[in-house]
Amino acid sequence: MATTITEECINCGACEPECPNGAISQGEDIYVIDAKLCTECVGFHDEEACAAVCPVDCCVQDPKNIETEAALYARLATVHAGKEFPPLATLPASLSRFRKA
Ligand code: SF4
Ligand code: SF4
Repeated sequence: MATTITEECINCGACEPECPNGAISQGEDIYVIDAKLCTECVGFHDEEACAAVCPVDCCVQDPKNIETEAALYARLATVHAGKEFPPLATLPASLSRFRKA
């Protein structure tokens, strides 16, 4: 996981249904992201969907857990078994924030 939710979270719940990987849930105090499920939206969007809807901008890159596009792409196969994604080499810019101009 390179996306994490900070303590600024106001528990609005807007992010949870936006996650294509089901990585977000309500934690004890604030919403949390499961590190094993987050792909930074690689494979689905050109930006982090949670960050795009968060009203207080508290879905942020985790500086302690920087991951490569290749590592995040590899996670898709485990999170979405049986679903086909374009090969990493030809992943369009619309499906990876790493490919934005
Ligand atoms: S960055 Fe994308 S995959 Fe990761 S938690 Fe947010 S919405 Fe889910
Ligand atoms: S959208 Fe932001 S403020 Fe709302 S629950 Fe998610 S992380 Fe918390």
